[in-house]
Amino acid sequence: MNKRVVVLGAGYGGLVAALKLAKGTPAGSVDITLVNKYDYHQLVTQLYEPAAAAKRDTEVRIPLKKLLAGKPIRFVQDVVTKIDPKEKVVTLEGGELSYDYLVVALGSETEYFGIPGMKEYGMTLKSVDEARLIRTHIERCFAEYPLDPRPELLTFVVGGAGLTGIELVGEIADWLPRLCEESNIPREQVTLYNVEAMPSILPGFEPDLVAKAEEVLKAKGVIFKVGSPIVQVEPGAVHLKDGGVIQSRTIIWTGGVRGNQIVVDAGFETEPRGRAKVNEYLQAVGYDDVYMAGDCCFVLNEQGRPYPPTAQLAIQMGNSVAHNLAADLQGRPKTPFVPKILGTVASLGGRDAVGKVGNNYKASGRVAYFIKDLSQIRYLAKIGALMK
Ligand code: NAD
Repeated sequence: MNKRVVVLGAGYGGLVAALKLAKGTPAGSVDITLVNKYDYHQLVTQLYEPAAAAKRDTEVRIPLKKLLAGKPIRFVQDVVTKIDPKEKVVTLEGGELSYDYLVVALGSETEYFGIPGMKEYGMTLKSVDEARLIRTHIERCFAEYPLDPRPELLTFVVGGAGLTGIELVGEIADWLPRLCEESNIPREQVTLYNVEAMPSILPGFEPDLVAKAEEVLKAKGVIFKVGSPIVQVEPGAVHLKDGGVIQSRTIIWTGGVRGNQIVVDAGFETEPRGRAKVNEYLQAVGYDDVYMAGDCCFVLNEQGRPYPPTAQLAIQMGNSVAHNLAADLQGRPKTPFVPKILGTVASLGGRDAVGKVGNNYKASGRVAYFIKDLSQIRYLAKIGALMK
């Protein structure tokens, strides 16, 4: 009987792992099943664009039918509810799957830090559906305002000025003039806040890049509140630690991510933020038959700190998992995973961005935007090559 490989999640890590495994193993030698909640692959790194009407939803989701066409991969559209690594069984909402090898690539979840009301009243940006919700919510606020002119309808708050928050706020800032024109509302009546707990936006970025990002976004009308953590959210109000209250009908939470609860509940060894520990081959600790890729696990950098969970890391992990799993199946030695972080670029809306490539090269403006665009093109080219 062929070995059964089950891949959980068709995000960056899982999709690359499944496609590369199918390409790297002889036809008919292994049964690959890919499980995903949606019947499409989401380009999660671009979600801020449909959230602010800069792209259509269809531009950031690719049908799995198209991606897997002609591939020896069985696709199961379902939701994973439980993993039992001792019994080698995965429970789905609609049934169960047994495996010989498992690839867990279930991504991350939003970290709410226990902030009262944030989960109930905040919106998040982790899927195409959520991007659509943000877009339609903002459009609705503009539609309601002329009929019921309450300032909180035109006050928008993005909580968190990490990469997700900054990219989203930049794109929303670019969208506002169009919304104002369509609704015949003066731009001065609209307020867009970006609230950050740390003393500066883009924590971890170098000061000159932070300054550049701030300058560009302030020029577009973004109001930053830094060093002021959000401590509570209720309908119509966002409370800050300094006692300030922002009256707003819109809070979009980009304050952080944590690992996947299913991975924690499965009993895999995890760090405090729920990401699983893996060995040099990306196998879960204590389970040689379970590989992991993407945001649900972590690897350490040279300073002994976890690499931030990014798409480029997930893609590289997916690649490595497929390589090592094929090695297991064919009795070859495995290769340790060594990440190659090419850089980080933050879009600032439109064709503007700031970022760093390699260790030394800093870029801003159109050059940085071009670099970001290039990384997206490279990814699509890679997927295209794996589909052949
Ligand atoms: P993050 O954890 O990187 O940033 C969250 C921000 O929210 C932090 O700056 C934090 O200080 C702030 N925050 C936390 N609690 C707060 C509070 N109570 N009030 C106000 N602010 C608060 O999360 P993210 O931006 O979603 O990014 C998640 C991961 O995805 C990161 O590893 C990031 O590098 C990656 N990412 C990369 C890109 C890119 O490469 N362009 C884009 C998006 C995300």
